[in-house]
Amino acid sequence: MKDNIMKNYGRLDITLEKGIGSKVFDTEGKEYIDFVSGIAVNCLGHSHPAILKALNEQSEKLIHISNLYWNEPQINLAKKLIDNSDHKEAFFCNSGTEAVETALKIARKFGKNKKGKNKNEILYMENSFHGRSLGALAVTGQKKYQTPFMPLMEGVNSVKFNDIDDLKSKINGNTCGVIIEPIQGEGGIEKVDKEFLKKLRVLCNEYNALLIFDEVQCGIGRLGKLFAYESLEVIPDVICMAKGLGGGFPIGAVLTNKKASVLKKGDHGCTFGGNPLASQVSLAVLKELIDGRVIKKVKDKENYIVGKLKKLKDKYEVIKEIKGEGLLLGIKLNDKPQKLLNKTLDNGLLLVGAGKNVIRIVPPLNVKKEDIDKGLDILEKSIKVIY
Ligand SMILES: *Cc1c(COP(=O)(O)O)cnc(C)c1O
Repeated sequence: MKDNIMKNYGRLDITLEKGIGSKVFDTEGKEYIDFVSGIAVNCLGHSHPAILKALNEQSEKLIHISNLYWNEPQINLAKKLIDNSDHKEAFFCNSGTEAVETALKIARKFGKNKKGKNKNEILYMENSFHGRSLGALAVTGQKKYQTPFMPLMEGVNSVKFNDIDDLKSKINGNTCGVIIEPIQGEGGIEKVDKEFLKKLRVLCNEYNALLIFDEVQCGIGRLGKLFAYESLEVIPDVICMAKGLGGGFPIGAVLTNKKASVLKKGDHGCTFGGNPLASQVSLAVLKELIDGRVIKKVKDKENYIVGKLKKLKDKYEVIKEIKGEGLLLGIKLNDKPQKLLNKTLDNGLLLVGAGKNVIRIVPPLNVKKEDIDKGLDILEKSIKVIY
């Protein structure tokens, strides 16, 4: 009974049953092109053989043991992430929110380790999204999420996204960390300004605060590099990731550099975090993305899709702007997105909104040209009917 499930989601009324590549099928057998990927999660599409192999082989050996002991998949996964980043240590958890919580605790501990008892303030950006637990919600700069759950965690302050003057007026010696999404995903595919980011890095160094990138949505190959920071010429002290990291299997992680490696025995933990099954699947995903050269082809796919979207923009007035980067793209409409989302669903294409008037295009990173063509044809057909 659907009634037995809490009413906290606004679901579309279809039930999905199976998927292959960039396609999913509902219980009636209807096919959909999947440009949502479980919200930027299924980076290798559905039923990818590398994921199935890792799931099958590892589940026959060992699924879970807790972090009272070592397991090789977790060690190997950490090595893969560290070898491909500028960072030093990894912590594993199960979700993006947990990764953000971990980063916030790291910032607080970092502040506690410094002189001056009030170094505990965390800055975040307006219109951000970092998760819905009470800590992550306190740094999620959107009133609609925060208001029903006040009071939230103290010791936080918000900065206008991309506003250097506002940042300068808020950051000070009591700031222990600043958290930012390189591209605000949920907030409407808003890119960070490179100059703002460079200035933020300088100010974090000046005031000795940790710079935390929430790459939960824009990381793991979405922007054409394994990490979003690689395309931004700024290296954060802490990176939060999840979504694409397990290709659909739940796993989150935090990477820290030497400066941010402050957690000691007993400071933090996660029962399921880095379990052998999740770690082995994630390792298989990263091998496919990096060594299988899936990430290398993301920019070509971006160019192909953006080229087509720009033509649609020239043709249909309802499209105001093409936004985003890599395969984290957005179409800004001069209307609320729901009507169009319902129509594309009818016509066999899954899309998801972002912010007030943006439709997100976040296909699997290995999406095939023929599926891109099919999806964008459905999009055009749907626009034509409504507008
Ligand atoms: C989705 C998301 C989160 C929360 O991740 P969950 O896995 O849903 O907990 C945090 N930050 C960003 C940028 C996200 O897109």
